[in-house]
Amino acid sequence: MTATPSVPACPVCGGTHATLFFSLTDQPVLIGVLWPDADSARACRRGDIDLAFCPDCGFIWNVSFDPDRIEYDQQYDNSLHFSPTFQNYSQKLVDRLVDTYGLHQRTVVDIGCGKGDFLAMLCEAGGNTGYGFDPSYEGERVSTSAADRITWSNDYYGEEHARLQADLLASRFVYEHIPSPNDFLRMIRRSITDPDRTVIYFEVPDTDLIIRQGSVWDVIYEHCSYFSVESLTRSFAACGFDVLRVEETFEKQFLTIEARVAGTDTGNPGNDTGNLGQLAADVAAFGETQNTKMSDWRDRLTQWRAEGCRAVAWGAGAKAVGFLNMLGDRDTITRVVDINPHKQGKHLAGTGQQIISPQALTEDPPDVVVLMNPIYRNEIAAQLAELGLTPELINS
Ligand SMILES: [Zn+2]
Repeated sequence: MTATPSVPACPVCGGTHATLFFSLTDQPVLIGVLWPDADSARACRRGDIDLAFCPDCGFIWNVSFDPDRIEYDQQYDNSLHFSPTFQNYSQKLVDRLVDTYGLHQRTVVDIGCGKGDFLAMLCEAGGNTGYGFDPSYEGERVSTSAADRITWSNDYYGEEHARLQADLLASRFVYEHIPSPNDFLRMIRRSITDPDRTVIYFEVPDTDLIIRQGSVWDVIYEHCSYFSVESLTRSFAACGFDVLRVEETFEKQFLTIEARVAGTDTGNPGNDTGNLGQLAADVAAFGETQNTKMSDWRDRLTQWRAEGCRAVAWGAGAKAVGFLNMLGDRDTITRVVDINPHKQGKHLAGTGQQIISPQALTEDPPDVVVLMNPIYRNEIAAQLAELGLTPELINS
């Protein structure tokens, strides 16, 4: 038994009523790093997750998160860009942003640009000039007709980049990795020298997915901050932004926010006061529901082992690392399929399963495919049918 950690003041609203509601020990700290073999994957660095909920603003965070355990570099690959479903979503988003904010021949900055796909789309769509910041960016990956207008950097974005005078400051799937979100957002605010010019766009995983839809596999170490509509709005307002739009997208898996620097010190939190009481009730029910879900899955895996059922998981992203490591399964689900060719042949953090291509399934056809994200069900079913395979599809 480890001692229960104490709960500090809420990093978003400063409230002191937060309590712990869910804990996991020894989870891999980096889900996006893939390993050359099973042994090194199993020897990866681990950490504890102790989630606290602030009833004053709805913010959820891992009080045991230690940023020193995390180091992002070019091995890190959590790109969703190979999925047509995600690509289609991103393209629509890009078109809307370009349209709404008149982003033609303007300057766009992507903070945490990953492999650069989103920034490339923004620059292609509006003839824009782009600057991408990400320590994990590797030059050879993205091919774009806008290449001569884009500057890539392996630095972290900072106040010194104010000189770029961005019309759009975008940041997708970064804010949930920041242990002091308001400090980060205030730094961004200080980098905006012309409040009338710059729109800020952030996108994060939606806490709704985890808490209300009960997707416990999305609880991962590197996500130290979990936002709801309420807490994301609160965070932006507290840091001096006027919130223009908050939206739950991608079947409530993602949360997007658009904002401008407020005229006054305290921004306008928008109309959406949300429903903190309901969120609090859902959080209270979460621990028990999820412990039951995990124990049901352990029983199912035991049964599959006994029956000699050949099971694979589909989707070697965060959910697969969460799913396999929370269940501690190495021997029942022995392979993980992913359409991203850069992941194939490598091994998943923690439990060490090898990642294979869909085509490799034809050599040893599975009886069951566990879908890490049901949103891709049609896409996956179509690929299996094309390969002449008819396994049972089960949601994780
Ligand atoms: Zn709070």
